Amino acid sequence: MEFIDTGIKRTESAKLFEAAKQYFPGGVNSPVRAFKSVSGPPLFIKKGNGSRITDEDDNTYLDFCCSWGPLILGHNHASIREYVLKTVENGLSFGTPNRLGNELGKLILENNSYIEKIRFVSSGTEAVMSAIRLARGVTGKSKIIKFEGCYHGHVDSLLVKAGSGLATFGVSTSAGIPESFAKETLVLPLNDPNLLEETLQNYAKDIACIIIEPVPANNGLLIQDRSFLELLRKKCDEYGVLLIFDEVISGFRVGFEGAAGYYNIQPDIITYGKIIGGGMPVGAYAANSKIMSNIAPEGPVYQAGTLSANPVAMAAGYAALQETLKPGFYESLENKTSSFTKNIEDFCLQKGYDLTIPHIGSIFWLAFTKERITSADQINPASMEQFKLLHHELLQRGVYLGPSGYEVGFVSAAHQDSDLEEAAAKIKEALVVVFDGKK
Ligand SMILES: *Cc1c(COP(=O)(O)O)cnc(C)c1O
Repeated sequence: MEFIDTGIKRTESAKLFEAAKQYFPGGVNSPVRAFKSVSGPPLFIKKGNGSRITDEDDNTYLDFCCSWGPLILGHNHASIREYVLKTVENGLSFGTPNRLGNELGKLILENNSYIEKIRFVSSGTEAVMSAIRLARGVTGKSKIIKFEGCYHGHVDSLLVKAGSGLATFGVSTSAGIPESFAKETLVLPLNDPNLLEETLQNYAKDIACIIIEPVPANNGLLIQDRSFLELLRKKCDEYGVLLIFDEVISGFRVGFEGAAGYYNIQPDIITYGKIIGGGMPVGAYAANSKIMSNIAPEGPVYQAGTLSANPVAMAAGYAALQETLKPGFYESLENKTSSFTKNIEDFCLQKGYDLTIPHIGSIFWLAFTKERITSADQINPASMEQFKLLHHELLQRGVYLGPSGYEVGFVSAAHQDSDLEEAAAKIKEALVVVFDGKK
């Protein structure tokens, strides 16, 4: 495929991408990496340090993708690197319990009052899949409710969108998912209390759980009112349905206790991923002891993993989470993020550009609108063309955003004020090109 000449050299990345296409479907091992929604070949990154990444052509970028969220301390953080290297010296995995698993488990449970027991797995998808099985096992019911605009990994029953009509049974969004699986999922719009009530009235006797990203951050950033999340809690109790918070992004991101702590709402089961592994493949699901006692070998819900809680992954997670527990860690991140977004928003206001930057904690999203957006259907697909141009202009200037306008950005602890000022200046320049067409 031809790509627009970006000015910055992408020769090596382009060559590597051509080679990768011979090995991997679409040249990638995860679809959004393929740069389908933005221009040019994907960047092949060879190293990262602090807030910056360097590609195979030796271009350096201020990074706001941060490996899609895990890197809350930025790239190549010394304490994670050192702890991982020290652990690796004793071997990578034993398939037995190990001390580091205990240490990470203890660290998390002692500092999170919303959970009592945890099970480590190796990805966010695996965490969600297991949490759903647990909810079904506990309730003896099979249907689940999810919300349009929330992503929960590539679990069969969650790659589902609303069919036609009100409170509909889902239709799969991927080939290879039997219709009978998709039908077990009901898909509702976010922030619609009436439809929620109606659906529960009709189907609660069959519904095991409601799963939500309490901070929906995979399809834009659809920050919910606390009252909607509270309503979910109340209705779940009323109808005997379990509430799952999928905190694979929000966990350890909007605070150590994630969105449960941020909103002070007690879900029944919480899933984690991304930050919990400090950059290594780790996921987890957690709940109170009673619910977790249903998991094998204690209880009848089976779930296992060859590499679960391997010491190297545990070491990375432990080193990362220890840093986040330092006093003021989250306040500082949140403050940096809000002054960064305000800086850009003020400029847009002054220029009359239709761009706002919803943000929470250290998550932000560039929304090409002035409206507050709380549900997926409010996003104008046409605005993705503006994002595409913005992405292109930012690559030229050395700023890397995730390669889709539906993706959020992350500020890490490694992003210094000076980095954020530099990024804001470059984003403003790029926005002038997007809105006024000046080069
Ligand atoms: C990333 C993500 C997942 C999937 O995690 P993987 O580690 O990519 O499998 C699930 N839920 C949410 C909310 C996520 O952001």
